[in-house]
Amino acid sequence: MLQESLETVRKNIDNACQRAGRDPKEVTLIAVSKTQPMEVLQEAYDLGVRVFGENKVQELTSKIESLPSDIEWHMIGHLQRNKVKYIAGKVALIHSVDTFRLAEEINIQAKKRGIIIPILIEVNVAEESSKFGIHVEDTLELVRQTSGLDGVSIKGLMTIAPYVVDSEENRPIFHKIKELSIDIQRQNIHNVSMDILSMGMTGDYEVAVEEGATMVRVGTGIFGERHYNN
Ligand SMILES: *Cc1c(COP(=O)(O)O)cnc(C)c1O
Repeated sequence: MLQESLETVRKNIDNACQRAGRDPKEVTLIAVSKTQPMEVLQEAYDLGVRVFGENKVQELTSKIESLPSDIEWHMIGHLQRNKVKYIAGKVALIHSVDTFRLAEEINIQAKKRGIIIPILIEVNVAEESSKFGIHVEDTLELVRQTSGLDGVSIKGLMTIAPYVVDSEENRPIFHKIKELSIDIQRQNIHNVSMDILSMGMTGDYEVAVEEGATMVRVGTGIFGERHYNN
């Protein structure tokens, strides 16, 4: 089951790359394992998965402690400032930085540990009021401000597109954030790269890849329904 869905997702990514004339090596599949029990993550690990995404700090840290140390963990969910200290130095990338105050706290925790923490700026491209993320027009300013913090390193942008039945509806959103990342790249800001574009989930990752995603975050497409009662 898990093996089959993994293979399907990987094949779909490869096909989307082919349609877009991209190299599949440019796209990292993040297995979003939130609410899934440890055994399921271990099973995915045994099938070769090494990149996992989680959205809650406590769940993330307990999974980090229990699972093999060569896993690359991604924090993809909204992050409260008082919880940064629990994940600093333990995650490969924080996808969800949308305020300068959060970036400042990540910077403080990085400096305490003598490390540099890689981050993405989360952009609310669709401007859904229920979502986190900074608005498109404010993104460059946040990037500039954050670039002055030498304990963090901006690697790119992330967005969560709306839930839609027809994934084509999200194509303009993916296109818009790709353009934004190109615009920011052109500014040549010190300490800022736009190498990573984290976009696309189970319902729309193929369209996201066609539009330039370098990281897709797929949960239910790999693991099936989430287990919210855990
Ligand atoms: C849960 C989650 C995903 C994965 O969603 P699926 O639709 O299950 O693939 C991706 N990104 C974020 C930020 C999430 O919270």
